[in-house]
Amino acid sequence: MSSAFNRRKFISNVAIVGTGLAIGAPHIVSAGTSNTKPAILGGPRAHNGSFPSWPVQDAIEEKGLTEVLRSKKWGRLDGSQMAKFETEYSKLFGVKHSLGVSSGTSALTTILGALDIGPGDEVVIPVYTFVATYNVVVLNYALPILVDTDIESFQMDPVKAKAALTAQTRVIMPVHIGGSPVDIDAFVAMGKQHNIPVIEDACQAHLAEWKGVKVGNHGLAGAFSFQSSKNLNCAEGGAVITNNDDFITNCYTFHNQGQGGRSTSFSTGVGTRGTNLRLTEFQGSLLLAQMTRVAEQSNRRWENAQYLSRLLKEIPGITPAKLYPGTTRSAYHLYMFRYDKNHFAGLSREKFLQALSAEGVPNSAGYGQMNKSSYVTALATNKHYLKIYGEKTMQQWLERNQCPQNDLLTSQQSAWLFQNMLLGTKSDMEQIAEAMRKIQKYAAEIAKK
Ligand SMILES: *Cc1c(COP(=O)(O)O)cnc(C)c1O
Repeated sequence: MSSAFNRRKFISNVAIVGTGLAIGAPHIVSAGTSNTKPAILGGPRAHNGSFPSWPVQDAIEEKGLTEVLRSKKWGRLDGSQMAKFETEYSKLFGVKHSLGVSSGTSALTTILGALDIGPGDEVVIPVYTFVATYNVVVLNYALPILVDTDIESFQMDPVKAKAALTAQTRVIMPVHIGGSPVDIDAFVAMGKQHNIPVIEDACQAHLAEWKGVKVGNHGLAGAFSFQSSKNLNCAEGGAVITNNDDFITNCYTFHNQGQGGRSTSFSTGVGTRGTNLRLTEFQGSLLLAQMTRVAEQSNRRWENAQYLSRLLKEIPGITPAKLYPGTTRSAYHLYMFRYDKNHFAGLSREKFLQALSAEGVPNSAGYGQMNKSSYVTALATNKHYLKIYGEKTMQQWLERNQCPQNDLLTSQQSAWLFQNMLLGTKSDMEQIAEAMRKIQKYAAEIAKK
C-alpha cells in the first residue's frame, strides 16, 4: 500500500469522525474533505484496495468435502450430512423444521407445491424482486399479482398488497428484499384476516430479524437461497423453514417425488404431485462449514451498514433505504439507497454510478420494472394463460400490475452496494462515503463530461 493511499485514508477519517483521530499529524487536519478530484476526472480513487472477496473458504470446507467424497455417500438418501445440516439450520433460525432443497427457487416451488397452488389461483408478490419470485408462480400456471413498492424501504407496500387481494388469492408472498425485513406484521395480519397463508421469500435475508425473531419464522413458511451470491453459499441450494409439523412433511414429500421414505422421520404427505429437488451431501457438508462463520459475518455486515448509513445520511441527496421500526437486524444482502440528482447538479444516476465505480466502489442500479418487461407482459398472450383465465382477465391483469412508485424508484433513484463490501473495515465504509462526497462536489463538472 502506498503512503499516498494511507494518507488519503487518514484524511477521510479526520473529515468524518472529527478531530479525535488527528494522531500527531497536525498538517493533515486542515486538509479538509473532498478536495481531491473524482477519479472519473483524473483524480485518485477514494477506494484503492479491493473489498473482501466472496465466498470465504478454508480447511474446514476441505475436510468436510473430502470426508463426504471418501464416504461414498453422496446423496441425502445415502448419507447423514443433509439431515445434520437441517438440524443445525433449524437451531440457527430458532425454528422447528428445516428442509434443504436444490435452490431458493426450489424452496419456493416446494412451498407452492405443498400448498397445491395451481391454475386459477392468485399469488400476491412484489414487483421489486428477483425474477425467481415471479417464475415459481407462473410455472404453476397461477396468476402472479405484482404489487407496487414502498419507495422509502424498497419493499412491497403492505397497503397496496392488501388492496390487491381478491377471492382468488391463495398466497401472500412478501420478499425481504436486500435482506431487510418487510413490514411483516402488516402481512401476517392481512393473512390472518383473510385466511390466506403468508410465505416469506427470505432468499436474501439469512439471519435478518423482526422484533428479535428471525425472518422466515413469521408466516407459514420461509424460503432461503444458498446460490453463490447469497449470504450463505453452497453454489446452488436452498431451504424451507416452518414451525408447522404437517407442512414440513408435505414439503419433504413434494421435493422427494411425492414420497416419504427418509430413514429419519418423514412419512408421505397428503399431496398427489411431487418432483426431485433434493440437495446433495456435498452441499450439506459445505453449508455446515460455511455456517461456522455466518453469525460473525452477519454481525459485521450489520455493524458496517449502520456505520455507513450514519455517514451517508450526512450527504444531501443520498438516502439509505428505510428499515421498518420492527427491524432488529437486516441481513444486508444488498445495501440499497436512493440517489437524488437535484443535490448533484442534475448529474444523472447512471453517471453518478459510473463515477462511483471509477472511485473503486462497485455498485448497481438494481432491479428494473419487471411489470413492464416483455418477458412478463407476454404472459397476457400466453396460450395456456388465455385458456385458463381468458383474454379479458389477462388484459385486466396487465392493468392491475401498474406500479408508479416502483417506476420512479427504478428509473431514477435506486442504487445498490453489495454484501461482500460490508464485510470490509470501517475505513472501507468511510471511503465509500468519501467517494460520494467527491462526486457531489464536482458533480457539475462530471455532468458536462
Ligand atoms: C436468489 C433469489 C431467489 C432464488 O434463489 P436461487 O437459489 O437462485 O434459485 C428467489 N428470490 C429472491 C428474492 C432471490 O434473491
